Amino acid sequence: MNKKTVILMAITLIFLGACKNSNKQKETDNPFFLVYNTPFEVPPFDKIDTSHYMPAFLEGMKRHNAEIDSIINNAAEPNFENTILAYDKSGKFLANVSNVFFNLTESSSNERMQAIASEINPLLSVHGDEIIMNEKLFKKIKTVFDKRNEMNLDAQQMRVVEKYFRDFERMGANLPKEKQEELKKINSELSTLGLDFGKNLLAETNKNFQLIIDKKENLEGLPQGAIDGASTAAKEKKLDGKWLFTLDKPSLIPFLQYAKNRELREKLYRGYFMKGNNGNKFDNKEIVAKIAKLRVKKAQLLGFDNYASYVIDDNMAKTPEAVNQFLMKLWKAALPVAKKEVVEMQKIIDKEGGKFKLQPWDWWYYAEKVRKEKYDLDENEMKPYFSLSNVRDGMFLTANKLYGITFEKLKDMPVYNPDVEVYEAKESNGNHIGVLYLDYFPRESKRGGAWCTSFRNAGWENGKKITPVVSIVCNFTKPNGEIPSLLTWDETNTLFHEFGHGLHALFTDGKYSRTAGNVPRDYVELPSQVMENWAGEAEVLRSYAKHYKTGEIIPEKLIEKIQKSGQFNQGFETVEYIAASLLDLDYHNLNESKDINVEEFEKTAMAKIGLIPEILPRYRTTYFSHIWDGGYSAGYYVYLWAAVLDADAFNAFKTSGDIYNKDLASKFRKNCLQECGDDEGMVQYKKFRGQEPSIEPLLKRRGLK
Ligand SMILES: [Zn+2]
Repeated sequence: MNKKTVILMAITLIFLGACKNSNKQKETDNPFFLVYNTPFEVPPFDKIDTSHYMPAFLEGMKRHNAEIDSIINNAAEPNFENTILAYDKSGKFLANVSNVFFNLTESSSNERMQAIASEINPLLSVHGDEIIMNEKLFKKIKTVFDKRNEMNLDAQQMRVVEKYFRDFERMGANLPKEKQEELKKINSELSTLGLDFGKNLLAETNKNFQLIIDKKENLEGLPQGAIDGASTAAKEKKLDGKWLFTLDKPSLIPFLQYAKNRELREKLYRGYFMKGNNGNKFDNKEIVAKIAKLRVKKAQLLGFDNYASYVIDDNMAKTPEAVNQFLMKLWKAALPVAKKEVVEMQKIIDKEGGKFKLQPWDWWYYAEKVRKEKYDLDENEMKPYFSLSNVRDGMFLTANKLYGITFEKLKDMPVYNPDVEVYEAKESNGNHIGVLYLDYFPRESKRGGAWCTSFRNAGWENGKKITPVVSIVCNFTKPNGEIPSLLTWDETNTLFHEFGHGLHALFTDGKYSRTAGNVPRDYVELPSQVMENWAGEAEVLRSYAKHYKTGEIIPEKLIEKIQKSGQFNQGFETVEYIAASLLDLDYHNLNESKDINVEEFEKTAMAKIGLIPEILPRYRTTYFSHIWDGGYSAGYYVYLWAAVLDADAFNAFKTSGDIYNKDLASKFRKNCLQECGDDEGMVQYKKFRGQEPSIEPLLKRRGLK
């Protein structure tokens, strides 16, 4: 049976299911078919039942198709309103149900939700493909694009026309038929290769390597938590009385950091950095070479010299050369610092009488000793000053001092879990901005990590502003009896970070869905990371970091420690990150679709930049999931790019002498958050800053100069 038949069968089955449902359930009972009768029209979580999703998804796709058909079948000459605007407005019903469903599958899932997800995902992907491959639709969009200069469009209309045209063009819609066929073939091969890469990596990480310890003395140095974890992991594999360590970071890193036994550290780390490179049937070298080769072909079919140019063309950096230049500037500053870190650690080794030269598997172990000596932040001493409610109020206060906005707690709002808090964001004059959901604690139905998302995006409909419904989801420790939820320093930063994404979503304004709030990947983390700067600033800390029992303001010596800790091990962190970013860039800068030997390739790439033998790139080729199957190809650099932006942006406040500088804040809000989609990332940034970002503030923050 081919794939198409399977999908058709699935559609038939779902339609049958839907028909059955509709006997029991009238459309008028399904909240997705009705106007939400709730405060601020937030989703009526209390009325949504799992059975409502599938009929709503099917209806959403049906309506979306009808909307597309009416664009295509319109006999009038294509223009901005009847084509671009109509397309921009299409799919709202589907977006509504998707926004609720896909957010809740992450934060409040169950088996039925998961079953619906696996049913609906392939259908949605076919639905999306059909639209982007729709020749008649593209023809109309192209007509408008070709005549855009004669249509009297304003700047925003022009931008939306160009964006949509490029979206289709980048997917190959503008290619002649036979080239489209070739592209389809490449895409399908690439997707299979990506899946194979991922499967191999999973086996190499979880199955093919284990470090089993049966003698207690080999655990020397490890904290109890790591020992207990390893003991539980061993029991699960029926290895009672032993300890099991794996290549998963939560198991690997503590072992490298604390295990005194050097040989075992080497064994484990070797297992890690050889993943996918063991010459067995899970080896990823050949797959990687094929992917790199096919990506050159794809980029050239689409009119680019190489894959990096194709990807980065859509980003703020614009060209691979700009990224390379930027990375090399930071590299030159970071490498000497990493070398100094080596010297510092070698001194400890020599002092302890170790007769060896520092190796990559020693780095975490000796860095931990340096950290203890110079930067120790004792979490137990810190935590009482960072109760969840104090941190939350601290971030609200920061937003208030910068933007004049307030957050007012709303009661009796529909929520999907009783732990969720809801706030109304208001302008200083009381005007409504949007709604913010805060979902703090872990539970079985929630995935790990922290993120910010929206149940409804800001926008405009028939001249009326649609206000956003934003949600921040975390996994912080729950309160325990008398003790409230106390955050670690990392978690405190996480909350400020996600709140930054939240402010971006709340402030977003723009007439068109395609551009409003829509920023390139190397810009996305600017609004979030910039907020972390305030979290750690002494003046801000004194306003919110208060002892949960006594109300005592955090002592100055802890503030000093927090600020110093940001510079620990930064030579290493920056070097291993940039090494991986440049490796990524090298693979995607290939201008010729040829066979490569990936081991040689990696070696040459690292030798070229002078990477020191004590450090490996954060990801080596055969387990660099971000770039081979994770959607970050030619884009691993983006985190650091955004770090330069956020450090530079905050530096503007700092050097003005007022970290709450209202004038700067309103410029940042307008250009970098509210209207960030109105023009290219760099243009918007320069409107705020008056100049391009400098790397100096980041170097200073990381102690690299
Ligand atoms: Zn983020």
